[in-house]
Amino acid sequence: MDRVDIEVSGGCQCGAVRYHATQMLDNSHLCHCRMCQKAVGGIFAALVAAPDEKLVWTRGEPAVWRSSEHVERGFCANCGTPLFYRDVNNGRTNLTIGSLDNPGDFPPHANSGTENMVGWFQTIPTIEDDGATEADREDWAAAIKASNNQHPDRDTESWNAKPRQ
Ligand SMILES: [Zn+2]
Ligand SMILES: [Zn+2]
Repeated sequence: MDRVDIEVSGGCQCGAVRYHATQMLDNSHLCHCRMCQKAVGGIFAALVAAPDEKLVWTRGEPAVWRSSEHVERGFCANCGTPLFYRDVNNGRTNLTIGSLDNPGDFPPHANSGTENMVGWFQTIPTIEDDGATEADREDWAAAIKASNNQHPDRDTESWNAKPRQ
C-alpha cells in the first residue's frame, strides 16, 4: 500500500476529540459491511487510513468499543461522532472520511463488503431534490448558524465542548 506525505487534521462534531496525521495510505474506500453500517449509522463507512505511528490525538482521546476480537471502533464519548475503524493487528487506523477537515481530499478507490450494500446505493445520484426553495434553505441555514455548536473544520487554540446533557 502506497503512502502519501500529507498533513491531515480532523475530529468529531463537538471538537472534544481532534487528530492529526503526517502521512496517509492510499486505501480510501467505502465499506458496506453490516458492522460498518451500524458503527457509523449510515449505509456505508467511508474510510482512509493513517499509519499508527503517523497519527496523534491533538485534543482529547477517542472512546473505543471493540466490535470483535480483531477490530476497535473509535468515537467521541461526548457527541458520538464515529472517528475510526482499527484492525488491532495491522498498525494503521482507518479514519472516517467525514471526520476529516477536508473530506473531499480522499476520493474512494473501492467498495468493500458489497454483499451488504443496500439495493438503492446505485440510485443515489438520481434521487430527486427535496423541492425546498432557496428561501427555505436560507432561513434554516441562518437559524442553524445562529446557534451552531459544531467545531470548525480546522485546528483551534481552545474549544469548550458542550457537555453531554
Ligand atoms: Zn465530540
Ligand atoms: Zn466494514
